[in-house]
Amino acid sequence: MPRKEVYCETCKSNQPLIEPEPQKDDLNPHPWYDLVCGTCYSIIATIQIVPDDKPVEPSAAVEPKLKLVQKG
Ligand SMILES: [Zn+2]
Repeated sequence: MPRKEVYCETCKSNQPLIEPEPQKDDLNPHPWYDLVCGTCYSIIATIQIVPDDKPVEPSAAVEPKLKLVQKG
């Protein structure tokens, strides 16, 4: 059975990925789970499963003026 690996910034290499089941708590209405490095247990990313109509939140990495993609 192939396994999933993820690049871990802490390990500086690809490591096995721990991918737990989505969970919920009282503070967050949407299911979420952490992708965790199987070697050093650093959190690689936090995944949240949201409805289609939830707007995308602003990004600190991309300035709004750079979003010039237009439909039509
Ligand atoms: Zn690691």
